Amino acid sequence: MKAQIKICRDCGQPLTKDEIALNKKLISPDVQQFQCLNCMSESFDCSVLDLKIKIDEFKEQGCTLFI
Ligand SMILES: [Zn+2]
Repeated sequence: MKAQIKICRDCGQPLTKDEIALNKKLISPDVQQFQCLNCMSESFDCSVLDLKIKIDEFKEQGCTLFI
C-alpha cells in the first residue's frame, strides 16, 4: 500500500511529520485537514518561529505524536 502524502490544505505544500504532529496537537488528534507552518502561523496569528519552538517544546515533553 502506498503511503499517503499529506499536503497543506491552503497552499498544497507537502507536510513534514513535525507539521502533521503539530496540527494534531494544536487543533485535534482527529484533524483531517492539515496546514503547513506558514499557513498555520497565519491562522494562529503568530510567527513560524513560534511554531518551531512549540514543536521543540512538545518533543522535549516527550509527546508521542512527535516520535
Ligand atoms: Zn500552507
